[in-house]
Amino acid sequence: MTTMIFPGQTIGIIGGGQLGRMMALSAKEAGFKVAVLEPTMDSPCGQVADICIVAPYDDEAALEELASVSDVITYEFENIDYEGLKRLTEIAYVPQGAELVRITQNRVTEKEAIVKAGCPVAPYFVVDTYDDLVTHIDKIGYPCIVKTARGGYDGKGQQRLNSIDDLPLAKGLIEHSQCVVESFVPFNMEISVIVQRNGLGETYCLPVGENIHVHHILHETIVPARISNDTLNQAEQAAIKIADHLQLIGTLAVEMFVLKNGDIIINELAPRPHNSGHYSIEACNISQFGQHIRAICGWPLRKPVLWAPSIMVNVLGQHVVPLTNNISKYPDWSVHLYGKDKAKVNRKMGHVTIMTNNVELTLDEIEKSGIWSE
Ligand code: ATP
Ligand code: MG
Repeated sequence: MTTMIFPGQTIGIIGGGQLGRMMALSAKEAGFKVAVLEPTMDSPCGQVADICIVAPYDDEAALEELASVSDVITYEFENIDYEGLKRLTEIAYVPQGAELVRITQNRVTEKEAIVKAGCPVAPYFVVDTYDDLVTHIDKIGYPCIVKTARGGYDGKGQQRLNSIDDLPLAKGLIEHSQCVVESFVPFNMEISVIVQRNGLGETYCLPVGENIHVHHILHETIVPARISNDTLNQAEQAAIKIADHLQLIGTLAVEMFVLKNGDIIINELAPRPHNSGHYSIEACNISQFGQHIRAICGWPLRKPVLWAPSIMVNVLGQHVVPLTNNISKYPDWSVHLYGKDKAKVNRKMGHVTIMTNNVELTLDEIEKSGIWSE
């Protein structure tokens, strides 16, 4: 059975960042009210919400307050407090449940779930101590990447090892937390599939995006990804298998590597809207945020249609001034800034989406603009 939530009722969001903001804007368009729980004042989501509860994510009284003002509760990132979310499921309506967060908060349980769903991951093993690493490294050899099991983002908490001489570089990470060690995948391309599912089991993937990272941070997403039909089918089928296996309600972003032969390997999961899906705000008949709200409110999902090929470019702290100085030159660019006050280097401050009938030309225009030269 699914409960339907209607405009006029309140959607509670845990987390006040840009994903929460764009969820909230989408919800408000339909007439929902929005409450947000977030520890910082004047957060991107707090600025557009009706109710702001400013407190840590694991603050029991704050979670109870969120429950009391919300008709349905969702979250905008996966590193929220699992125990707190679990308690919320007992006192509030949390259609996504807490299990998905528990699984995706930890790379070990995440990889196990991907494998159980029948999808490929890079060869890996789990290490609790530096000795474990030294003893078992021959299982996969070099190059490999050591990643902390918990809490990584934008490539933080990772160390690449190219040879036996690099082993000590991983010491700090492993002393700090459990890690997974995975083979370096010589990929041709990175793609992501955003799959969304409601309580009735209706499931849709957004058009698949091709992701270009700079310094381990997403720089551009090109849609549709420039992949073969066979790779596209593999990617969508894998995302749907994982979504079914996890009995997904809401949104799951599945990051993948595409190998030279066109096969895919799953990198990681995010149980929420994803940076690589922002293009859908302008370029699709339903955005990842709108579909997420429909899913958690028990509404029927819409079959996504891409209006035109699109490029999304992230705007980091160092890009804000060059972008704003150049807005008058680019009437066709959709500019999104998230309302963050400090434009720190490499902090995600906003993004630009450009719909185009000539991807190569537009990529060239982006490069020549000089806005992203640093
Ligand atoms: P984000 O939050 O930005 O998605 P993250 O910190 O959770 O990143 P990953 O997605 O695991 O980390 O890795 C970041 C990037 O590092 C990947 O997008 C990819 O470019 C590269 N990378 C990670 N794992 C591998 C691998 N096994 N082989 C090759 N490249 C990898
Ligand atoms: Mg990633």
